[in-house]
Amino acid sequence: MKVAVVGAGAMGSLFGALLSEAGNEVWLNDVWPEHVQTIDRNGLQIEREGKTRRVKINATTDAHEIGTAELVIVFVKSTQTRAAAEIAGPIAGKDGMVLTLQNGMGNADTISEAVKPTLVLAGTTSHGATLLGPGHIRHAGVGPTTIGGWETAEEGFERACRVADLFSDAGITCEAVEDVRIPVWNKLLINVGINAITALTGIKNGEILDLEATRNLSRSAVEEGMDIARARGITVREDMVNHVFAVAQATAANRSSMGQDVDNRRQTEIGAINGFIVREAKALGLETPVNQTLTGLIETLENHYLR
Ligand code: NAD
Repeated sequence: MKVAVVGAGAMGSLFGALLSEAGNEVWLNDVWPEHVQTIDRNGLQIEREGKTRRVKINATTDAHEIGTAELVIVFVKSTQTRAAAEIAGPIAGKDGMVLTLQNGMGNADTISEAVKPTLVLAGTTSHGATLLGPGHIRHAGVGPTTIGGWETAEEGFERACRVADLFSDAGITCEAVEDVRIPVWNKLLINVGINAITALTGIKNGEILDLEATRNLSRSAVEEGMDIARARGITVREDMVNHVFAVAQATAANRSSMGQDVDNRRQTEIGAINGFIVREAKALGLETPVNQTLTGLIETLENHYLR
């Protein structure tokens, strides 16, 4: 299959490389010239469990060079989704699929404004990757990937099955599901319960569990999110709070992605995570004071260091 990746940072270049190694024609598109030039010249360098390999792969800053592709994967941070969707649309053309595995909520809807909505697939992945420098990533963790048609139509499920086969053949264990909103919401609620709290306090994921104060904050943020999910007709797991605590325990030594963004004074994905819960609540006439406070504090931090 011909595959294009828009946003070839840690995750985009990882997925692109795995698909390329499986024999697909893959193009990486990124706005970072040094990264693209390094991949073009030396291949993409991937560290995994202490070993390093190089993958030769097409990379360009100019999306026109790609032409059309049967599958476009959007892997920018959620703050850049609109711009990436404008690039993905012409690459997908009339019938190419566009898939987002980004964190947070709202990405698939934004992409659906630039691409025929029935061609949009969304999902979650438990793979983890870190950008070490231009043309250089670490594949930090392996886990399941779940995808489905965002419109939940039968057609979307069939497309998702094709992509799940493509991924599984490339060693990316992947399941297609009929209602992908459920796993996307479940992952969102994990991020709601961990990311902003760790980003604001400087703690690691597991340290949320050390104090009653942080456990209570996380529980309240997640419970508010569960109420919004239910109001939107989404079935989330009943034991979501305990599940979030179990994820915090399983990733105890990690600094969350939002924590890393704040540490490095980068824009965070707050608007697609706790901020999304706040916007949904407002639209529904509900109150989410804990998520509103977490969102306001992260926005304040960002506003100061991004000035
Ligand atoms: P990243 O910052 O490493 O990569 C994003 C890339 O997008 C960068 O290289 C940037 O230059 C590029 N970009 C920005 N604007 C662009 C544009 N308009 N066109 C093309 N490229 C553009 O981020 P990441 O860690 O790979 O995360 C991507 C998404 O995946 C996020 O939503 C994140 O939450 C999610 N995610 C990350 C992980 C992880 O382990 N890193 C795991 C699961 C999900």
